[in-house]
Amino acid sequence: MRQEDGIMTIKGVGEKAVEKFDKLDIVTVGDLLEHYPRDYDEVRPIKEIRALKEGELAAIEANMVSRPQMKLHGKLKIITTVMTDHSGKMIDVTWFNMPFLKNQLHMGTVYILRGRVVRKRDRLVMEQPKIYTKQDFYNIVGKLRPIYPLTKGLTNNAIIKAMESALKESEDILEYIPKEIRNRNNLIGYKKALKDIHFPKKKEELKDARRRLVFDELFLYILALKHIKKSSHAKDSTHVIKRTEEVDRFKNDLPFELTNAQEKAYDEIMKDMGSGQVMSRLVQGDVGSGKTIVALLCLYQVVLSGYQGALMVPTEVLAAQHVKTFGNMLSSATKLSGEPIVTEQLTGSMTAKEKKAVKQRLASGEIDIIIGTHALLQEDVEFLSLGLVVTDEQHRFGVRQRETFFKKGEEPHVLAMSATPIPRTLALILYGDMDLTVIDEKPANRLPVKNALVGTAYREKAYEFMEKRIAEGEQCYVICPMVDESEDSDLENVTIYAEDLRTVFPASIRIEALHGRMKPKQKDEIMERFAAHEIDILVSTTVIEVGIDVPNATTMLIENAERFGLATLHQLRGRIGRGSAQSYCIFMMGSATQESKERLQVLERSNDGFYVASEDLKNRGQGDLFGTLQSGEKVFNLADIYEDASILEAAAEEAKKYSLEKLFSEQIDLTNEERAFQGPKNQDTRLMKKVSQYMGDVVL
Ligand code: ADP
Ligand code: MG
Repeated sequence: MRQEDGIMTIKGVGEKAVEKFDKLDIVTVGDLLEHYPRDYDEVRPIKEIRALKEGELAAIEANMVSRPQMKLHGKLKIITTVMTDHSGKMIDVTWFNMPFLKNQLHMGTVYILRGRVVRKRDRLVMEQPKIYTKQDFYNIVGKLRPIYPLTKGLTNNAIIKAMESALKESEDILEYIPKEIRNRNNLIGYKKALKDIHFPKKKEELKDARRRLVFDELFLYILALKHIKKSSHAKDSTHVIKRTEEVDRFKNDLPFELTNAQEKAYDEIMKDMGSGQVMSRLVQGDVGSGKTIVALLCLYQVVLSGYQGALMVPTEVLAAQHVKTFGNMLSSATKLSGEPIVTEQLTGSMTAKEKKAVKQRLASGEIDIIIGTHALLQEDVEFLSLGLVVTDEQHRFGVRQRETFFKKGEEPHVLAMSATPIPRTLALILYGDMDLTVIDEKPANRLPVKNALVGTAYREKAYEFMEKRIAEGEQCYVICPMVDESEDSDLENVTIYAEDLRTVFPASIRIEALHGRMKPKQKDEIMERFAAHEIDILVSTTVIEVGIDVPNATTMLIENAERFGLATLHQLRGRIGRGSAQSYCIFMMGSATQESKERLQVLERSNDGFYVASEDLKNRGQGDLFGTLQSGEKVFNLADIYEDASILEAAAEEAKKYSLEKLFSEQIDLTNEERAFQGPKNQDTRLMKKVSQYMGDVVL
């Protein structure tokens, strides 16, 4: 079996499964091998009920002492029962949407159950546990089981089976990093790394495997950037865009004054765009530093110069928000011809008919500014004269996507905006092909967010506090993390949480839920109602993490804060403190170890993203290998620029002495047998694939 073979070659993978794998972008054996676990489940031995702690995933062996009951909670069917063991303590157990259990489970029987222990109104509850036979449980206890990203109809077990067989039978998993680089950086071999990332026997093995594969990703990424930079050095631009007084007047008429940092960013961008060369600039500014208005001014100026502009964002919710903001702010602005400026949106959830109409008007030049998601990258999206492309939340996109845009029209200027507060040195590595502007100042009218790090005992007080804020006419967010791995758990968690909240708060307080599994239209509708203050409390998953701007929302309660990374928490907190009113962020820890408490105290101490990031980097040694939450688009499969900053630096150092050409032409220390098998090095399609993932259409 070779990595370029289709996954049909794997024993047990039939036609049906091929379709399912395709949904996960897995077509070849090599694709499968790089489908890394998103987490690992360490199955610990059975615990006594009296020793269970909130937040943990635990197994109990216990007697069912009440008949399973079925309750309806809105549309959800919930089975509940009570278990007890020899420790004498009892615990409630619930299952969502598994009504058939009512007849399958029997009172008076002993079961082994394994599930997440959560606190519901001062009682511990085990949620959605799996039911094991003794035999099955003793087979998995003590092991690290990979948990894979799944798709409907494809189980974790099916992936494990396919993976085991692919690892065993692939003959061409070959080393491609030279020995001296591996030695200098303490990296294990590629084949072992691949094996161990999927099936580590212990945590140490997993760490080493991950380290090696993260190095690979970053090393190849930097080499790819180096190559792009070399092939796209200073290009002449056909779009020379000069500052005009219309925009300056518009700027002076804004309801607020730009900060010095915003002015400086705008200046630098305008200098670039007027220079006669193609701009490629990254604007980095902490959440709430006011990047949108800078983008708007630039796009306005581009339209006044007779060109079109595009703004690409990572989520539909954010696209809808920007379309509204732009529409409002530019409502009285006109083009030189005196006609109004036309701003429209293009997103994946629009109907085919709607999309087609927008594409036609883009191509004919009727639309001046287009705001959209990935849908903008499709091949059939054409412009009459695209002058500037802005990508918001750049860290959610890859170099490749930036490049795809670049190919549209006649090499437009490129402006990327990012809130990832990474230190300058790292930014220079990661965005090595761009110039950098930092907005290091927030609007003057902002009061720093007041933070509180608390335990669940504080929940009642937190609710009282929220009620007071709402009485003052302000709004609140509540953030829930995912409960467990099952596909629908975030939905259930958020909807149930919202329903529970409705019983806690007076009926006059309007509470709604927002989660990733909603249709984009539904999400938009909820966000619009929240922005229009028709909702007081928005209960949400991290879907609201990026970009959302509702200045009247002043209070955020984050449940199980210990389960999120610092960067995510900082982004979440960035949703408040966006107006002149005092804002409050309550980080609630479900089960706080001393370690996680110390980690979260960084957020309590400071609202500065750069400080948070640098503290995060200092602690990176601990490595938050387990339970890292992943969200949205990712440039890297495994690497995390915060956690892996030291590997990034090491990879950058090695990349200085290296190039893609060299990597492809060199014979790495293969055994003779391997070399014979591999054939000419430049046919290493797998490696080519890995690299081109970062490079888009730039050819080697
Ligand atoms: P981010 O940098 O996170 O994208 P936004 O551009 O969404 O931030 O700006 C956050 C909020 O601050 C918006 O409501 C915006 O209107 C407002 N804002 C931007 N610049 C200023 C300023 N100079 N003074 C006051 N408010 C501003
Ligand atoms: Mg923004």
